[in-house]
Amino acid sequence: MAEGLRSEVASRLDDALDRLRGLRLGLDAEEVYRPEVPAALVAAGLHTICLPVDAGGLGAGLKETAIGQAALGAIDGSAALGFAMHQHVLGSAVESASWPAQLRQRLFAAVRDEGALLNSAATEEGGGSPARGAIPATTARIDRETVVLRGEKTWTTWLPALRFALVTATLEGDRAAPADDEPVIGTFLVDLQLPGVFRRPSFDALGVRASASGTLGLEDVRVGLDDMIARRWPGEPDPRGPAPGAWFGVCIAATYLGVGEGARDDVTRWALGRRPGDGSASVADLPTVQVRLGKLDAALRVARTVLLDVAGRWDAAPPGDRSALLADIGLAKITATNAAVTATDEALRIAGGPGYLAGRLERAFRDARAGLINPPLDDIAYQSYAKALIERTEAQAREGH
Ligand SMILES: Cc1cc2nc3c(=O)[nH]c(=O)nc-3n(C[C@H](O)[C@H](O)[C@H](O)COP(=O)(O)OP(=O)(O)OC[C@H]3O[C@@H](n4cnc5c(N)ncnc54)[C@H](O)[C@@H]3O)c2cc1C
Repeated sequence: MAEGLRSEVASRLDDALDRLRGLRLGLDAEEVYRPEVPAALVAAGLHTICLPVDAGGLGAGLKETAIGQAALGAIDGSAALGFAMHQHVLGSAVESASWPAQLRQRLFAAVRDEGALLNSAATEEGGGSPARGAIPATTARIDRETVVLRGEKTWTTWLPALRFALVTATLEGDRAAPADDEPVIGTFLVDLQLPGVFRRPSFDALGVRASASGTLGLEDVRVGLDDMIARRWPGEPDPRGPAPGAWFGVCIAATYLGVGEGARDDVTRWALGRRPGDGSASVADLPTVQVRLGKLDAALRVARTVLLDVAGRWDAAPPGDRSALLADIGLAKITATNAAVTATDEALRIAGGPGYLAGRLERAFRDARAGLINPPLDDIAYQSYAKALIERTEAQAREGH
């Protein structure tokens, strides 16, 4: 049983991992999205672990979720990334006080009773990363109690598997908008079974190729005004509080930590078994290889320690104190994604020619790069640490320290 998990969570995770192993992920030459992957995770009941106990789930917090995500990542980066999206949206919906109660109950019921899977569809072709303050070109035209959504979202991971997406859109005709016409961004829960929803495969990428991160088209999709989860002005903090950022950061960190850990385990097994030349020594016996193995293991263990520490502190903290943990969650994300890049790079150097051939190590090497692109990006995290450091030092100087 994985350390740090309650037995009910561990048994669902074990079941899910067995099912994924049965699909021989990472060994398939095709590297395309397979619907059996989300089906296996739903069949194991892993998709409800974050639901509160009174909603039929296991009440898993960030730490148990992170442990599970890393275990999935070690088997397959694309599968883990798709599931990370469901987990972060669901976990943050559980913890965000501003979600309308009825909407949240409807969502929970669909996850529990129908195996609904979720993601956030925020990125657009022209706007780039919403984490950089992009204003959606997707519009939400409010017409009394109905909202008409129109636009296109790119990079929507696991698009074929999704039942719901959290869609960001610029409000039009918003009765609550101020007179100065500053755009207001709404976030809507959209049932992807509605008329006007189109799913287009559009992902031809370096890594996580089986993640089906496609284009979601919304062609006059009608939702209710009561499907709006939150609204905000650009640059304003998310009214849902710190939970969406925390759940996203931890789920991404854990996914790529797992990709790195999978590569570590694969390359260690390979180095023990491979006896080149006269066969007297294995690759794992070579001192230079041991330096590389130790280096990649150290990077991953630092990342795991930082990640599980902050996830545990988040779970233990009262909701009002959690915002202060976001900086360390960003640290966990950049540490884990960079550790995965280091580990998969070292693994390929260890494996030489055999590692360069198409296979699990080569795939992990490509998959790990994707983690660098998800927010918070390294530069944003480093700038925020610098800002805090400068402010602290200036305050100390003012106080005469
Ligand atoms: C595998 C994968 C899956 C994804 N899945 C989803 C998903 O399910 N849903 C979703 O909504 N999104 C998803 N994304 C999108 C992702 O989160 C980014 O929003 C997307 O990659 C575009 O952001 P970008 O920073 O790469 O591009 P751009 O914003 O175009 O930026 C290009 C470059 O310029 C830099 N840059 C841009 N603006 C600034 C600035 N103001 N200051 C400094 N540097 C800047 C960026 O760091 C980057 O290096 C996914 C991305 C990946 C890689």
